Amino acid sequence: MRILLLAAAFVAPPAIAQPAPPKLVVAISVDQLSSDLFEAYRPFFTGGFARLAREGTLFANGYQSHAATETCPGHSTLLTGRHPAATGIIANAWIDQGAARADKNIYCSEDERQPNTSFANYKVSPEHLRVSTLGDRLKLVSPASRNVAVAGKDRAAVMMSGRAADGRWYWDGKSWTTDLAGRASPRSIQALNTVFAQSLAAQQPGLTAPPICLAKARNYAVSPSLRVGAGGLARAPGDTRFVRAHPQFDAAVLAASAALAGELGLGRGQATDVLSVGLSATDYVGHSFGSGGQEMCLQMLALDRDLGDFLARLDASGVNYAVVLSADHGGMDIPERLREQGVATAARADPALAAAELGKLLAPQFGRTASVLKGEGISGDVWLDRALPAADRARVLAAAVARYKAHPQVHDVYTAQQLAATPLPKGQPDKWTIIQRVRASFDPARSGDFYVVLREFVSPIAKPSPGYVATHGSPWDYDRRVPILFWRKGQQAAVRTEAVDTVDILPTLGAMISLRIPPNTVDGRCLEGAAGTRCR
Ligand SMILES: [Zn+2]
Repeated sequence: MRILLLAAAFVAPPAIAQPAPPKLVVAISVDQLSSDLFEAYRPFFTGGFARLAREGTLFANGYQSHAATETCPGHSTLLTGRHPAATGIIANAWIDQGAARADKNIYCSEDERQPNTSFANYKVSPEHLRVSTLGDRLKLVSPASRNVAVAGKDRAAVMMSGRAADGRWYWDGKSWTTDLAGRASPRSIQALNTVFAQSLAAQQPGLTAPPICLAKARNYAVSPSLRVGAGGLARAPGDTRFVRAHPQFDAAVLAASAALAGELGLGRGQATDVLSVGLSATDYVGHSFGSGGQEMCLQMLALDRDLGDFLARLDASGVNYAVVLSADHGGMDIPERLREQGVATAARADPALAAAELGKLLAPQFGRTASVLKGEGISGDVWLDRALPAADRARVLAAAVARYKAHPQVHDVYTAQQLAATPLPKGQPDKWTIIQRVRASFDPARSGDFYVVLREFVSPIAKPSPGYVATHGSPWDYDRRVPILFWRKGQQAAVRTEAVDTVDILPTLGAMISLRIPPNTVDGRCLEGAAGTRCR
């Protein structure tokens, strides 16, 4: 009996036939889709999200493992296999006091060396991205590979496609446009512009909420004049701001992406193509209304439906495609709702924590009137004013760090020197310390002189305004933890709960499509078994 059992153990399981490598990789980023949000709505999904989770490999505990959990750093990790410390994209924006132009505020996907540009009027460019994307790598191996992106935000399209893009389009506030000059606009993009202009011009009456969304409808006053939580995403005609905080925005990107794939024949050539799709509406809904109310419920359900339609169109095309879907970061809900739900420490930051404010307070100590500090808001990177005499810098740094550390809403402060001395973290991202998280998005040439981390559940939005009541950007897990889904036809489905990293996506896709990714060129690792992938 024992021998028989042993013998049985040596019988190999029936080999699972490896399907032919996909010819088209569809990389979808859902801006601000935290694992918390995904899990909350997973039982109610019936469309695209449901299908990817049901048939694919869902990594429920993916991490944008770094501290600067913003759109640009997050997108820079998705298809490069590198942390922001290597991609160079340390934040959405930073201050470069040595920049040649008058405006020292630098946007992540611009080229500030272009004449007549400013932070508000920038020239879109991948200039700041220091590493290669999946599309860049594919084109190096085979120039016939196509590398195309469509996204709500320019920074999503740029960071996912990289330097060697064949085409990328994004919303610039007026129309869907590109930074790649001298190319005729494909018919799909022309159609996108025509249809979108019509829907923008029309009144949006608000969506009808199903019972699961109605159950979340409750108003919260986030300021004396602003209430959120029970809205239906109604919008006035021509409102270019709130047109983005609506499922229509993602639906337009998805419809154009599917049409573009057909028009360009993506996945039908000899080489493997990449189509990056940046879905931004979830982020705008989150910023405008928070993530726990009726508004986000409407967005989640509509996006699920539209994603299902998008996948059905890809199926109908007969192309052998694979999907990876993840997010650039998660998000924190409005503290007003969180407090009511029992998170007693949820709060809005003290406006005095803004670098410019604290720097003004310190100025007289150093015989100055102007702020001795520069920053992009509350928390994150802070720079010492470059005009400070060298002899004062260490004293200003010590005074500023001490002030921040003494504030009850501050978790900790790390100086550039401390961060430079911290080794780049490796291994399971859920086990990283806070300084390790900050290190993963630290770049000695671009980062501030110190970095401020607020306590968990302290929102850096001190004073909410229409369109900006909740945000992300912290090293806390509500901002870091994102789902990562891999799907390809005929794979065995699985839900996996081990902590993985968005920098693991590129090496995994590499194994899936037989593109060699030398391990020393990435921070991540191939995820064995993801959508049936065998890592070599
Ligand atoms: Zn955002």
